[in-house]
Amino acid sequence: MQASDFQALGVAETFFRALTKLNYQTPTPIQIKAIPPILAGRDLIGVAQTGTGKTAAFGLPLLQHLIGGERRQGRGLPRALILAPTRELALQIDESLRQLASGLPLHTTVILGGVGRRPQVERLMRGTDIVVGTPGRVLDLLQTRDLRLTAVTHFVLDEADRMLDLGFIRDIRKIISALPATRQSLMFSATMPDAVTRLADGILKQPLRVEATPDKITADRIEQSVYFVRSGDKRALLSKLLADPAMARSIVFTRTKHSASKVAEYLCSGGTEAEALHGNKSQPARMRALARFRAGQARVLVATDIAARGIDVPDISHVINFDLPNVAESYVHRIGRTARAGAAGIALSFCDSSEIEYLRDIERLTGAKLTVAGGTTAPASTSRPQQQQRQQRPAQGRRNFARRSSRAA
Ligand code: AMP
Repeated sequence: MQASDFQALGVAETFFRALTKLNYQTPTPIQIKAIPPILAGRDLIGVAQTGTGKTAAFGLPLLQHLIGGERRQGRGLPRALILAPTRELALQIDESLRQLASGLPLHTTVILGGVGRRPQVERLMRGTDIVVGTPGRVLDLLQTRDLRLTAVTHFVLDEADRMLDLGFIRDIRKIISALPATRQSLMFSATMPDAVTRLADGILKQPLRVEATPDKITADRIEQSVYFVRSGDKRALLSKLLADPAMARSIVFTRTKHSASKVAEYLCSGGTEAEALHGNKSQPARMRALARFRAGQARVLVATDIAARGIDVPDISHVINFDLPNVAESYVHRIGRTARAGAAGIALSFCDSSEIEYLRDIERLTGAKLTVAGGTTAPASTSRPQQQQRQQRPAQGRRNFARRSSRAA
């Protein structure tokens, strides 16, 4: 037995077959740090973002506790509650738990808004061990008493920072007040601003804090470059780049939902299979878009930050920032979609004259200068990207860009 393997962490043999099937050969750092204390029953704060293997970090010990605990408690009475900020993340957690628990007599139910409540209620009535849900619908079903939390022994709050960003704090507090006082609570968050720490104080008892992969390490594995381009030329540049078959599975990020739709339409009209993913789409439409992208029927997914948050699609070849995010942390989250589970990845960013400050913030946060791949010496932004300018500093790119802009004006 090797010190680093799952068995050494205390994971029961009953999960080995699922781990082999999933090809999880070695635990990730967050799994190494989090699994033993969770198995020992401790409350825990995991500072880790999606992509670090955090779902299995809490999922494996959670399932192991449930297998060892008393059997199903009956209608609408789950033993574990997992809250996630977005529907996509909730579905993904549910899927991961099902895979890890395959062959075991454990039932999960997903509770989310945007889809009919009746099938969810019916499933709860059949009896479930685990509920994975978004706060709004969970609270809704709690208030109608279709869901009761009195038998919950394990509670997980995932992506706590994003929960607060999305304004779920009141819903979360109400849900927590319906939980039994005696329980194990786990919280995961990519960042730990004061508001998250305060929330943790109210939920967790003497929690152990574990951290994995600071943002910079993720960013270090990713080849990052920037194209200085006029706003109106971004779509043409994107098409041009996507002509390269190496861009086999790419996520394109836009700042607005409207822009996500427009860019996807533009690509489709040019013959590139693309899907848009954003909050204005119905839940079934979002699921369809994601499924087509996952299956490779669409090469490109054009998404907003919130819609793409937490989405885990393996083998993303490129992340393209069609618009730079105005919050630098979002850049790190975005590019983390590529370079999953140790793989290398490529991130390309488009920067127009209104986004120079955002670029500066990103470089400050990651501590790295982005390689200038286009728009420094070439006129107009749709010109062929200039590769191999690795040593060029963005300051120079900015100067050239400014010169070009004033010429264009
Ligand atoms: P997560 O952070 O939970 O969203 O996981 C990110 C990705 O890593 C998912 O595709 C997982 O299936 C994968 N993963 C999780 N744990 C491991 C592991 N120990 N070895 C390889 N891949 C893993």
